[in-house]
Amino acid sequence: MRVALVTVGDELLAGDTVNTNAAWLGSRLAERGATVERVTVIPDRLAEIARVVNEYRAEYDAVVVTGGLGPTHDDVTMDGVAAAFGRDVVKSEDVLDWLEEHGGYAREDLTEGTAEIPAGARMLPNRAGVAPGCVIDSVYVLPGVPDEMKTMFEDVADEFEGARRYTATVEADEPESAMLDRIRDVRERFDVKVGSYPGDPVRIKFESTDEAAVDAAAAWLSERVDPPEPDG
Ligand code: ATP
Ligand code: MG
Repeated sequence: MRVALVTVGDELLAGDTVNTNAAWLGSRLAERGATVERVTVIPDRLAEIARVVNEYRAEYDAVVVTGGLGPTHDDVTMDGVAAAFGRDVVKSEDVLDWLEEHGGYAREDLTEGTAEIPAGARMLPNRAGVAPGCVIDSVYVLPGVPDEMKTMFEDVADEFEGARRYTATVEADEPESAMLDRIRDVRERFDVKVGSYPGDPVRIKFESTDEAAVDAAAAWLSERVDPPEPDG
């Protein structure tokens, strides 16, 4: 399953907030066997959200959008996603019922706009906050607040799947440039994806749906590199 992430927020572009939602979703989706093929950061601007969501829903199996769900004027994600489908946002009875029953809110006390989702969307309750998310076709709309986003993602995590992927990492106390021969050899010998991450130590990561192949590749390389000094 190929997934695109769209993280919405002026503060992400300005560098005021680090995009931890993209990193967290990337690793959770990878664990489930879904591959994230695109991460895009866009401003809180309705037309931009509509354009990107429309483009990605045609291209990917699923699109996950986070941020900009609140009822304040600067939160326009629901309107943008609705526009991508040529729909309006409507007050959702499901959301109002849920907030009354589980959130302890009286309908009349809710800020205008809190219960609005695109017409025909399935609502996702916000168990860690107020503003609901939703699913419309293959597009999942989640909050920006990291705790709320994570809680809501776990409710729909089962809907993202692929073959389970296994990983193993080998660390080496050698410059990456000195290891090119062995990295090439391990790629030739084993049918696994090989990633090389420079640093101190260098990390070589193996990935495949075949656990035995990952273990064999990691074992082969481990025997041929200088291991890092143990700590302490
Ligand atoms: P609220 O209902 O509280 O307004 P929201 O869904 O509208 O929530 P935002 O207004 O976009 O979300 O952001 C709420 C908070 O979450 C902000 O502090 C913001 O910096 C943070 N946040 C938003 N997007 C991300 C992200 N991609 N990674 C990490 N933090 C984020
Ligand atoms: Mg907000």
